[in-house]
Amino acid sequence: MSPAGDEVGAAESPAASGGSWYGLVDIASEAVQKFEDQQTRAPVACQDCGEPLRTGPNGENYCPFDGSIWGPGPRRIGQISNTHN
Ligand SMILES: [Zn+2]
Repeated sequence: MSPAGDEVGAAESPAASGGSWYGLVDIASEAVQKFEDQQTRAPVACQDCGEPLRTGPNGENYCPFDGSIWGPGPRRIGQISNTHN
């Protein structure tokens, strides 16, 4: 019934948006941090065939398709031997 009530609520939000801006900066830097982590940690998919990597018993990230073990870089750091091929 009273649209003025909504306007009062909207007028209060600019004060809160100041905090949101800094929140966005934090999110952005956090995204950069995650990106850098991906560059220094093992990839999530095989660089040869794009197959999602699985985690082996020793924590290695390997491709279930061709058995390649991927490390930071990403670069191939090995090959699992217990494949069914
Ligand atoms: Zn692969």
